[in-house]
Amino acid sequence: MLKVDNINVFYGNIHAVKDVSFEVNEGEIVTLIGANGAGKSTTLKTISGLLHPKTGDVLYKGKSIKGVRAHKIVEAGLAQVPEGRHVFLHMTVEENLDMGAYTQPASTIAPNKEKVFELFPRLKERRKQLAGTMSGGEQQMLAMGRALMSNASMLMLDEPSMGLSPLLVQEIFDIIQNIHKEGMTILLVEQNAQMALSVADRAYVLETGRVVMDGTGAELLTNERVRSAYLGG
Ligand code: ATP
Repeated sequence: MLKVDNINVFYGNIHAVKDVSFEVNEGEIVTLIGANGAGKSTTLKTISGLLHPKTGDVLYKGKSIKGVRAHKIVEAGLAQVPEGRHVFLHMTVEENLDMGAYTQPASTIAPNKEKVFELFPRLKERRKQLAGTMSGGEQQMLAMGRALMSNASMLMLDEPSMGLSPLLVQEIFDIIQNIHKEGMTILLVEQNAQMALSVADRAYVLETGRVVMDGTGAELLTNERVRSAYLGG
């Protein structure tokens, strides 16, 4: 469904992503794990059209999306939930969800909102609340719900567990698995390697901008090098 083919991404002279290639097949959860600064967010932003690779290509459903504007990529069915959520703080929960549907015909908004409310009952309870007054976990749910309003067939999540308590991390990962069970293809970027590998079909490890290892989630969970570098031994 998604093929990242040998991309190189720079910030000025800084070579942040080096010859990175990987694939996400339809129906999979694939995770990119790695330490701070490994290039995970840069890779996601390149796929979603916010950054452009100097060389290499990104293919979505067999077609190159390199150089395509970010909103067109969302329209094509590939939605990103950014690191740090970036919900509209001065809008209500429901208004945030409506913003996620701006690429969609009006007739799809109500049924999609109902689906989002089924996945996130908390958002339904809080539909009139200002997003800026919600907790970190609730804002993460809202950011995910907003992305789902775009009728996406693939979701990219950037550090959904960041800054959340262990209980909420578990809740967010349960929801990710529920969304996946309903047929969503997911690319998940995480520093919480333990959680990410335990839900992922396959995973890639990024170090200083390069893919240094890949395998199934289960394989990497028991891999010695991954255990000592990312899973606290
Ligand atoms: P984190 O988990 O800390 O977000 P990451 O793996 O997502 O890390 P990136 O944010 O992709 O890493 O950063 C990759 C490299 O690019 C780092 O060395 C970072 O300092 C650099 N970088 C990121 N954004 C910029 C920018 N806007 N300008 C210059 N350098 C940047």
